[in-house]
Amino acid sequence: MNILLLGSGGREHALAWKMAQSPLCDTLYAAPGNPGIADHATCTALDAADHAAVLAFCEDKRIGLVVIGPEAPLVDGLADSLRAQGVPVFGPNKGAAQLEGSKGFTKDLCARANIPTGGYERVTNEADALAALARFGAPVVVKADGLAAGKGVTVAMTMAEAELAVHEIFSGRFGEAGAEAVIEEFLEGEEASFFALTDGSTIVPFASAQDHKRVGDGDTGPNTGGMGAYSPARVLTPELTGETMTRIIAPTVRALADGGTPYNGVLFLGLMLTAKGPQLIEYNCRFGDPECQVMLMRLESDLVELLHACAENRLGSVPAPRFRDATALTVVMAANGYPGTPEQGGAITGIAAVESDAVKVFHAGTAREGETLVASGGRVLNVTATGTSVSEAQARAYTALDAIDFPTGFARRDIGWREVAREKS
Ligand code: ATP
Repeated sequence: MNILLLGSGGREHALAWKMAQSPLCDTLYAAPGNPGIADHATCTALDAADHAAVLAFCEDKRIGLVVIGPEAPLVDGLADSLRAQGVPVFGPNKGAAQLEGSKGFTKDLCARANIPTGGYERVTNEADALAALARFGAPVVVKADGLAAGKGVTVAMTMAEAELAVHEIFSGRFGEAGAEAVIEEFLEGEEASFFALTDGSTIVPFASAQDHKRVGDGDTGPNTGGMGAYSPARVLTPELTGETMTRIIAPTVRALADGGTPYNGVLFLGLMLTAKGPQLIEYNCRFGDPECQVMLMRLESDLVELLHACAENRLGSVPAPRFRDATALTVVMAANGYPGTPEQGGAITGIAAVESDAVKVFHAGTAREGETLVASGGRVLNVTATGTSVSEAQARAYTALDAIDFPTGFARRDIGWREVAREKS
């Protein structure tokens, strides 16, 4: 089968690396891809926003499966266009992708289905937002309704911060994404991510992970797309996972199907593990980046078999995903300046020498300038290692990272710190 993978980040490099290992995969195409993906796939310049062009490519190359990496094409309805032409696609239709595309949509669905999550109010103007803030009091969370690349959420410890966040949203900083806002109850606990595959009726648990959103050690500084992650997140015990499946995921999938927008793809849950049990913070409609990299390092099953079965609504007919009993940890090497304006063009050498069965370096923002590999984005490399514990995987990842020569890059030095501390105690 020929496969088309859409995207260009570390997540898509991991997906390409894993799918290329499948005996079910004949030719793998990636659009646009990156220099790491090019080791496993034929990269092609195809604009995911141009649905007609993607459809024409699928027909021309006899594509049997399209895997959509990032959220934007899903929220934009690319999966709808492909399904309408009979092309099997892994990723939800536009209606179901509202789970990520609109925070208000998700909160309303949770309220209807009695899913554990923080209390909330949806507001469409500054005056109503301020009135809602007064009802909640600080600390409180203010969110732009739509996609804002991680910048639309303010966890406000004081009313002044919350009021400023509301003002920013309604003064148009986030464009359409900020036409509406959600004022949300502040939840306390440890965060973890959980992933499940569903074809709209069958649901199978995939894996857990914990990421590190802040740019600085000790979880300080501004938010980023993610500076590192590890999997599994043992804090999400089998008991809590079971609770998440029955109280959050199953009712969500049922509610979407009942509403005429069945979900097909991966459900990515941001959870807060509170004293009252797991509560939903957010849904994303695609694999996480860099969570995908660590989960796929542990995956033993054939990824193509799973994604293809999902796309063809027969997930129940293939074996459930199996994972190695190991920990995987990834550290993001970012370009200096990130998450502000990253320094571009810095040379990178030494990747091949650090790779082994236990170490893999996924490319995110890299490009080739002649023979030289250079930084071309904010997050540049994901140095990923496996081990019998988080401490071992962490040590291996940092040994590899220190041997890569990338003078204009930096990394956090404490990825996995919570679990490392627990392993030591
Ligand atoms: P964007 O839509 O702008 O990309 P996002 O989808 O990343 O943002 P969320 O995941 O909803 O936004 O929130 C970002 C972070 O804010 C969470 O990872 C969590 O740390 C914090 N957060 C969100 N909601 C709450 C809450 N109700 N209580 C406590 N912290 C929260």
